[in-house]
Amino acid sequence: MLRSKLAALSLALGLMPPASMADCLARDFLALPLPAAPERPAIALALELAYEGLAVDEAAGVLTYNGQTFALGEDPGRTPQERLADPSIAETFAQVYPLAFDLGARAQPWFDPGRARSDALFKALYGASEAEVAASLKRADFRRGTTAARFSASSRQCVATQLQAALDAIAAEGPEVEKVFAEVGGSFNWRKIAGTSRLSAHSFGIAVDFNTALGGYWRWSGGTEGNAGNYRNQYPEALVRQMERYGFIWGGKWHHFDGMHFEYRPELILHARLVGG
Ligand SMILES: [Zn+2]
Repeated sequence: MLRSKLAALSLALGLMPPASMADCLARDFLALPLPAAPERPAIALALELAYEGLAVDEAAGVLTYNGQTFALGEDPGRTPQERLADPSIAETFAQVYPLAFDLGARAQPWFDPGRARSDALFKALYGASEAEVAASLKRADFRRGTTAARFSASSRQCVATQLQAALDAIAAEGPEVEKVFAEVGGSFNWRKIAGTSRLSAHSFGIAVDFNTALGGYWRWSGGTEGNAGNYRNQYPEALVRQMERYGFIWGGKWHHFDGMHFEYRPELILHARLVGG
């Protein structure tokens, strides 16, 4: 608890070390070479390429990470809303994340690729408590002209370095991106998803919310579950593409749209490439 309070205090004071000091090299997940004729399942390859130290034994149906073993589980073809509450790792890949900048797919109710998460795996990757995640945070900054915004992200799996690389690439896109950082929602926050008992991706230091007013969120615009309604995107395509390049999926592609929200899910980007998404 004390550790967590100290982390929160250092966050407030901006004392977190910057991600640029980390011994990580940013990876471009849209350009990372993939096997032309993979002999292993796309899920296994995507997970291993995405996460350092993770190994999949598809014959045994398990993955191992940091001495822990997790069942990959089945994808028995449950409905998306059934999956959402407690998805197996296999089920988190059931909906292929669309790499194209096409918001048509989200018209389909419950098309929310990436919204199903394995809390157990994320706890192993990033920390099982607020204090543990808070202790891993590093800073990532957006700066362009007179616009500046500060975020924090996990240093595990080089997430903060990936975020800094994305923010730098976005800043180089041009002045039209500045509005997206004029007023930002935030990043690390150990909390449940509104209306559920599941942990938000923000709990793990892997999610950022940019401009909330421009972003759009289905719960704030009168949508209901399974009928989230129309989404009028105001984020530049180039910004979304740069975030995806560095491993962050975008909530603007979800039926239950969360247009301010990006989260680090490189396994879904790689899986989409492997299966032609
Ligand atoms: Zn968010």
